[in-house]
Formats: sequence, structure tokens, C-alpha cells
Amino acid sequence: MAVMGIDLSASSKRGSAFALLDDKAGLIDCSQFFEPDELGGLLEKHKPELVAIDAPLSLPLGLDCLEESHPCSPTQSYKGRSAEQDLARIGIGCFFTTKRSIIKGVIYRGQDISQRLSIQGYRVIEVYPYATKVILFGKKMPSKVTSRGLAYLKERVSTIVTGVEGYMDHLTHDGCDAILAAYTAWLHGNDQTDALGIPEEGHIIVPKVSDRAT
Ligand SMILES: [Zn+2]
Repeated sequence: MAVMGIDLSASSKRGSAFALLDDKAGLIDCSQFFEPDELGGLLEKHKPELVAIDAPLSLPLGLDCLEESHPCSPTQSYKGRSAEQDLARIGIGCFFTTKRSIIKGVIYRGQDISQRLSIQGYRVIEVYPYATKVILFGKKMPSKVTSRGLAYLKERVSTIVTGVEGYMDHLTHDGCDAILAAYTAWLHGNDQTDALGIPEEGHIIVPKVSDRAT
């Protein structure tokens, strides 16, 4: 059975990178899609048992939207979601999901796509490839915007997933994140992950933190 990872962009005008892994963590496909229909075709073809999406898929308890003009407000005392607080506690920075978020487009799109997929019967998890990277590879990594950063990431990714060689020349940072998302799904299927946050608010799935230094 395959697993899929998606590095979601804020709109269908920009492509979203995806990666598909087989049950041995071998790369089956890594490319991008634009419209939901294209994603539908990929799901139809590969029927992944788990789809991991790199985007916030839930809102803090009490919020039903992120519009500042709407009266809904968080019912918890912490900022953002509990899973985001858990990330902060293990020293991994992220955007907190609030009405002032600068990534509202991705959040709304992530919720929309995850709801569609759930209705179609797919199991969807939220992942955060930056956390996956830090937990698996350590905090010291060259900046993602440099060519050295991309070279480093490609090299590291090819140590955890097989079959990356054929994609090396065209692999972008987003593609690497999609592979990391898919790999986190694969780890989840093999019982090697932790679920951050609380179920009623939504989990972020990361590789097991306990026995690794972060
Ligand atoms: Zn609202």
C-alpha cells in the first residue's frame, strides 16, 4: 500500500508538490499538481492508505474561521493550537494558527482538501516537514534558500527513502518537503511517530521524539 505526502501551496495557481512512497519507503512518484481534479486522479490511481499534508488542518478550539470581523474566539488560554505549543516546547518553531496568521490561504486550502479527502474515505494526517527534518537530522542545517541547503536536504532525504536518484536533477525544496511528509506518513503506518497536541483540536504527526535529541 502506498502513502502520499503533499506540500500544499496557498492556491491552485501555484503547484503543490507531492510524493508517493510504497510500503518499503521507496519513492514511486514525485511531482506537482495544481487543481483538486489532478489530485483526485492521483488518489484514484495510487489509492494511498494515508495522506500526509503539510498545512494546518484544524483551528484552535473555539474558532470556526480566521476572520477578524467574525466574533468566534479561542476558548483556550494558549496561543494557537496545542500541537503548536508542543512543538515550541521541544524547540521547534512554527507559525501559530491565529486570526492574525500570515498563512491563512494555506490553512483554508488545507482544511478544504482534508475535508474533501476524508469524505472520499482517505485517512489524512497533518505533518510538518520542518519538524520531521529537525527530529531526524538535527537542528544544524544550511539555510533552505541557499543551493547548499537544497543539496544538503536532497542528500539527507536520499538516506531515508530509496529511489530518489532518478528525481535528483529536478528535485526542489518543495519536492523534498513532500517526500518528508510522505516519509512521516510511512513512519506513522509503522508505529514510529508521536502525535502532538490534543485530539479534539487536531494532531500534528512527527517522528518519535522520545529517543532522539532535538
Ligand atoms: Zn468565525
